[in-house]
Amino acid sequence: MKKALVLIVSGMVLITASPINAEKEGKTNQILINYDQPKNPEYQRIYSLLKDERQTLEKLQEFLSPFRLRWPVEIKLTECDGEADAWYGDGTITICYEFVDELWRNMPSEPTAGIEPLDTVVGPFVDTVLHEFAHALFDFIYPPILGREEDAADQVGALIYLQLDKHDARRLIMGTVYAYIRETEDTDPPSLEELADEHSTAEQRRFNLLCMAYGSDPKLYKDVADWAGLPDYRAEICEEEFENIEYAYDTLIGPHIDKNLAKKVYAKSWLPEEESPMLYQEQTN
Ligand SMILES: [Zn+2]
Repeated sequence: MKKALVLIVSGMVLITASPINAEKEGKTNQILINYDQPKNPEYQRIYSLLKDERQTLEKLQEFLSPFRLRWPVEIKLTECDGEADAWYGDGTITICYEFVDELWRNMPSEPTAGIEPLDTVVGPFVDTVLHEFAHALFDFIYPPILGREEDAADQVGALIYLQLDKHDARRLIMGTVYAYIRETEDTDPPSLEELADEHSTAEQRRFNLLCMAYGSDPKLYKDVADWAGLPDYRAEICEEEFENIEYAYDTLIGPHIDKNLAKKVYAKSWLPEEESPMLYQEQTN
């Protein structure tokens, strides 16, 4: 996908290798958003919560504005025939209302291990959207990927939100780790089908994420790593693992980011107040 660019300037032919110029072809502010009106009245509350009260997609649109992309990426919230899912394809990130609904329904009624109930929804929601955005980046930038694309998408998504201020990044990590633990606590060890899947198992994704967070800032995440069971033998190599991921990200994705805009965007506070009223719960209980 890397094409040489041929420029003719005053009769001279300049042949330039693509990585330098291809990046400049991209533009910032390339995120389009779309809230589909759900037909099922059960999702009406989520629809108005995300759209009218929280402006969730508008925030994601601004948050992802520093990425220089050659084509727009659409983030769409829609109904998915009962499937609690999210995916990327053909320039569109699709997030199902059913997926958000499932997160809200599984929200604990009180803080658990220092994790605010709201963060068990916000964490996995943001982690999932950024995982899908990573697939979009791979599609547009077409970077070389060693290892499995699903693992790389987990790493890129987490690396984006680990750049937020410490308080917000920690909330997202804890909420997402909580969701992975909840997903697996009542189940048997992974089946052959799960082990053969293109995604790592929920258990592996939890430890990989913990290792990234701990590797990025051992002091900030030591208690989270202990609580969520990251073993010492893995923790020991997490700083090196994180450096490898960060190096790959800076090399392959970094040139496609407007650094000044990114600095402004990451400095803002994005998450809702932890003690936000549980509007959805109040209305459905
Ligand atoms: Zn994926």
